Amino acid sequence: METSAELLTPRRNTRQISVGKVAVGGGAPISVQSMTTTKTADVEGTLQQIYQLAAAGADIVRCTCNKAEAAEGLAQIIPRSPVPIVADIHFHVEMALAALEAGVDGLRLNPGNLRKPSEIKLVAQEAKDRGVPIRIGVNAGSLHPDLYERFGGATPEALVESARMELDYFREVGFDDVKISVKASSVALMIASYRLASETFDYPLHLGVTEAGPLPGGLLKGTAGIATLLAEGIGDTIRYSLTADPVEEARAGRMLLESMGLRERKGLDLIACPSCGRAEVDVIAVANAAQEALKDRNLPIQIAVMGCVVNGPGEARDADLGIAAGKHRGHLFIKGEVVRVVKEDEMVEALVEEAERLVAEGVEARLAAADPKAAAAAEQDRLALLEDKGTDANKSQVKIESIRRRTEA
Ligand code: SF4
Repeated sequence: METSAELLTPRRNTRQISVGKVAVGGGAPISVQSMTTTKTADVEGTLQQIYQLAAAGADIVRCTCNKAEAAEGLAQIIPRSPVPIVADIHFHVEMALAALEAGVDGLRLNPGNLRKPSEIKLVAQEAKDRGVPIRIGVNAGSLHPDLYERFGGATPEALVESARMELDYFREVGFDDVKISVKASSVALMIASYRLASETFDYPLHLGVTEAGPLPGGLLKGTAGIATLLAEGIGDTIRYSLTADPVEEARAGRMLLESMGLRERKGLDLIACPSCGRAEVDVIAVANAAQEALKDRNLPIQIAVMGCVVNGPGEARDADLGIAAGKHRGHLFIKGEVVRVVKEDEMVEALVEEAERLVAEGVEARLAAADPKAAAAAEQDRLALLEDKGTDANKSQVKIESIRRRTEA
């Protein structure tokens, strides 16, 4: 019999914040996070990994923002990401400000690394002005040396005190749009620290065992720490930190929540792009229509609804099947390859038909049955759209120039 969430300790009450479209805390579904391993300046590679992570179950994805090129990459990635993007900041205040400029949905600050109160307050003020939440990401391995000394090591009290001090700086500028993590690579220390954090704060908690290592040990450590706390009602969002393909992190997070009855199981997995400046159709309407048409068919595949043929098939190349819009036509693609071009008003019908055939006949057979003219038609539409809207449909260049002024100053 499956475990039901009702048999676990009721979830602790926390405040609710919003990381982009994802609510965290305050009874919202526990969200899964992961982090890209690509260079953030590699826009296409990073987006492709973000789509893979989203497909594997990540609700929020974090990208490092360690240099100006990474911030410029974020300005181009964010409008095209299917999930909210959080920027990971370590030492440089300019990178936090540049990431905000790029339009991130959240920041993660490590109080052990960004230490100057004036800089911390500057970031908090800017985040407040832009309505962007911050995770206070305390890490036992990079605890502020003063706290290490005061508490005689990285103890649960020291980790929680680090978060409290950061909160105090934030509150000085009237900012508390915050979630908190107190991670450690020791499972026991992590559990004790989060228990104390949960008694001390009512902010949402982001759970994780840091640097848990490769599989299978990393998975076991992560599960030991995260599941123990979840069973006690502690935790609002989770991340496995594995020395592995980050897809494994997202998958593990999702499976853990499903196995504990904290998230519903997925049957058909429908993903949709966020619909940026390139979109050629009302993506939400098409995705809703597709969802409605497919909902009772119980097809165990992933389907992507993408707003444009310029980037859609590439971004969602890991989806089993997808549809991308372009020039009043729908481009059906399987594993990133366009196999058929249909009229725009026949997109959903064609998608449902192809989904059924794909499940019945398999990927190879459906790729072999592709319309030989489809790829050329897709390329034609892609080029026409690029000509219509140029290469910067999301006006990322304006943000990039602003980031450059800031980081070069
Ligand atoms: S409209 Fe195109 S570029 Fe924009 S997010 Fe959708 S698929 Fe990506």
